[in-house]
Amino acid sequence: MSDVLSVVVPCYNEEEMLPISIPRLKDMLGSLMDKGKISPESFLLFVDDGSRDKTWEILCAAHEADESVRAVKLSANCGHQSALLAGLSVARESSDISVSIDCDLQDDVNAIETMVDRYHEGCEIVFGIRGSRKKDSFFKRSTAQGFYRLLASMGVKTVYNHADFRLMSKKAMDELSEYKETNLYLRGLIPLLGLKTGEVVYERGEREAGESKYPLKKMIALALNGITSFSIKPIRLVMHLGFWVLLVCLAAAIYAFVSYIGGNVEKGWTSLILSIWFLGGIQLLSLGIIGEYVGKIYSESKHRPLYHIETVLEKGE
Ligand code: UDP
Ligand code: MG
Repeated sequence: MSDVLSVVVPCYNEEEMLPISIPRLKDMLGSLMDKGKISPESFLLFVDDGSRDKTWEILCAAHEADESVRAVKLSANCGHQSALLAGLSVARESSDISVSIDCDLQDDVNAIETMVDRYHEGCEIVFGIRGSRKKDSFFKRSTAQGFYRLLASMGVKTVYNHADFRLMSKKAMDELSEYKETNLYLRGLIPLLGLKTGEVVYERGEREAGESKYPLKKMIALALNGITSFSIKPIRLVMHLGFWVLLVCLAAAIYAFVSYIGGNVEKGWTSLILSIWFLGGIQLLSLGIIGEYVGKIYSESKHRPLYHIETVLEKGE
């Protein structure tokens, strides 16, 4: 008996993209079934992340027409990462392998077959790696690559040029469910699972319909979350900074003392005001970084659920 594959697709206001994505994903699923690589029970699982457009209506109609299309509706917009986790936790109940892919299909649907092959070769997790980012805008490409470098310099283990297009076995999904964090950054968590991994390189395409649901604000929030959830280096940096600023102050004090002895005392207003601002700035910055971590402790300590599922469209409904 071959394995049941679920394809988890988070969707936020994707009414323009869904009519293209649903048939394309269904074709891919059908062809893998025909080749006997996955079970005929395999299914697509769309997660409606609190969309305000016709996303849910489209999903309901698709489910009515074909039971291999399933859907989960979250009661509010919880963000891509939480929507993905919600999908994985529902998919885990009835599948042996799960692939997550964005609704805009910028990630290559055909790479899923290779992912399944790697799984059959013994990999528990298969990462989709973007071969090049030629199709991304210059801004998106440079900010994303800068971010990966920054994460690496902070000591966070990530897979270069991998976003959330990946295959996970049941075992990997089970292990992931043991992680109870509220500040979710899946790309950082999954390499921690310590399971056998593989990679599939693909070319990333352009979004065919609708707009990016990841504006700069959400991108910065994801990046900050990625750093502060996995690294305490920023706090250390603040400490180092404080040390160097103190050294500079000491040097300035020696200079002032020497000038005083030499008799050419300056009025000193500029240096005074500058140092007040400088130190004030550093203190605020440090407080901000510390506050970020304290905030994390606060939100983690509440153990609040990340999402609330409103409806699930399952087989036989
Ligand atoms: N998405 C989501 N919730 C959000 C924002 C985005 O579920 O709050 C989904 C979106 O529908 C898409 C995926 O996350 O399937 C990635 O978003 P998008 O393609 O817009 O991001 P980009 O490729 O521009 O980074
Ligand atoms: Mg996209």
